[in-house]
Amino acid sequence: MARPVIAIVGRPNVGKSTIFNRIIGDRLAIVEDKPGVTRDRIYGTGEWTGRAFSVIDTGGIEIEGEDSLLRSVRMQAELAIEEADVIIFMVDAKAGITTADEEVARMLFRSKKPIVVAVNKVDNLQRMDDIYEFYGLGFGDPVALSGAHGMGIGDLLDAAVSKLPVIEDEEYDDDIIKVALIGRPNVGKSSLVNAILGEERVIVSEVAGTTRDAIDTPFEKDGQKYVLIDTAGMRKRGKVYETTEKYSVMRAMKAIERADVVLVVINGEEGIIEQDKHIAGYAHENGKAAVFVVNKWDVVEKDDKTMQQFTNTIREHFLFMTYAPVVFLSALTKHRLHRLFPVINHVAEQHALRIPTHVLNDIISDAVAITPPPRDKGRSLRINYATQVGVKPPTILIFVNDPELMHFSYERYLENKIRAAFAFEGTPLRLFTRRKS
Ligand code: GDP
Ligand code: GDP
Repeated sequence: MARPVIAIVGRPNVGKSTIFNRIIGDRLAIVEDKPGVTRDRIYGTGEWTGRAFSVIDTGGIEIEGEDSLLRSVRMQAELAIEEADVIIFMVDAKAGITTADEEVARMLFRSKKPIVVAVNKVDNLQRMDDIYEFYGLGFGDPVALSGAHGMGIGDLLDAAVSKLPVIEDEEYDDDIIKVALIGRPNVGKSSLVNAILGEERVIVSEVAGTTRDAIDTPFEKDGQKYVLIDTAGMRKRGKVYETTEKYSVMRAMKAIERADVVLVVINGEEGIIEQDKHIAGYAHENGKAAVFVVNKWDVVEKDDKTMQQFTNTIREHFLFMTYAPVVFLSALTKHRLHRLFPVINHVAEQHALRIPTHVLNDIISDAVAITPPPRDKGRSLRINYATQVGVKPPTILIFVNDPELMHFSYERYLENKIRAAFAFEGTPLRLFTRRKS
C-alpha cells in the first residue's frame, strides 16, 4: 500500500533540508547526483505515532537562470500540491514574511490541501514572539521550530500527521498480482508494457483504472489476474518538474510501495549503473518480490556464456538481492517474453508462502545442531522456537533468551539455512528476534 505523502516547501535557506533530515533520521532516502538537483536526499520515509509516511523535500529540485528563485519556488509548490497529502510550508522566523513566501502562500491557498506552517529558526524563547506574524499567511496556528536545536519537530509531526488522510485499503483483491515496472528512462519499460498487453492471450480489462501516481492496467492471462503499475506512461504531462529525473525516481518509489512484484528493468545493451541500484534497493527495503529483467537482449552480442556472465554482474552489483531471478528478453522482438510470466507467478507465490511452524523449527534445530551460535562474553544465544508471523514478505519471529546475543552473521546463517530448505526465490525474508526464555 502506498504511504501518504508529506511535502516540505518554502524558499531556499529557511531550513527545509535540515528538517527533512531530522524527520527521516537515518532511514533510507533516495540519493542522486544530477544537474538541477541540489540535494543528495529528497525523498525519504518517516514514522510518527505509528503512522508511516513518505516525505519529499521539494527544495532538492531547482531551476537555474533568470528569476530562478521565484520559478524554483513555484515549481516546488506545484510539485507539492500535485503529490502531497499534507504540505509543510516552511518559513523563517528571523526573516519574516517575504515576497516569495507570499507567492507560495497564494499557490497553496488555491490548492485547498491541508497546510501546516512551520516557522523555523525559533532558536530561543525571545523569538517566540516572531511567530505571530505568520498567522497572517492564513493557514491557522503556525508551529515554532528550531531545526538547529531539533526543537518543535514533534509538534510539527503531530500537526502534519493529524491531517493525513486515512488511506483506503488497497483497491485490488488479494489474489491479484500487482506488478510494477521500474528502471531508468529508455531501458524499455513502455515497450515492455506494450509487449505484455499486446500478447494474444492477455485480456486487458476495459476499465483501465488510473490512480494519481501511475497508470494501472488490470488484465488477465491464463486464468490469473494482474495489475500492471506503469510509471513510464505518466511522464509526458508537460509539467516542468516532471522533466527532472528525480521526479521519475519518486514515481517509481510510489509504484514500488503498491506492488507485490517489482520488475527491475535493465538495459542489456548498457549494463548496470548506480541509479539502478537505488531503485532496486527500495524494492528490497519495502519487502517486495523482485525480478531482474534484462531487456534489449536482441541487440546484445552473445554466445553461450553471455547470460551467465551478465547474471554474475547483476549479482556483484546487487549483493543484497541474490534471491531475485534474472530474465533475459526483448520487448521489441518479443523474443523470450513467454518466460517472464512463469517467473512473475513463481516469485509472487514465494512472496506469499507460509511455512508451518513445526517444519520451520525442524530446519532451525538442524541449523543450530550443525553450527551452534557463537559464545559472546561467556554467554550464548539460545533459540527457543521460531514462527512465521507474516507474508509479503515472509516474516519470521525467532524467540531467544536474549536478542542482543543474535549477531548479524548468525542471523544470516539462519536465513541461508531457511532459504536452502524453502528457497523463497524472488522474495526478501524478514527475521526478527524477540526475548522469551
Ligand atoms: P533549505 O534551503 O530550506 O533546505 O535550508 P537548509 O536546511 O539548507 O538550511 C539553511 C541554513 O539555515 C543552514 O545554514 C542551516 O544550518 C540553517 N538552519 C537550519 N535550521 C535552523 C535553525 O533552526 N536555526 C538557525 N539559526 N539556523 C538554521
Ligand atoms: P522507457 O523509457 O523505459 O519506457 O523505454 P521505452 O520503452 O520508451 O524504450 C526506449 C527505446 O528503447 C525505444 O526506442 C525502444 O524502441 C527501444 N527498445 C525498447 N525495448 C527494446 C528491445 O527489446 N530491443 C531494442 N533493440 N530496443 C528496444
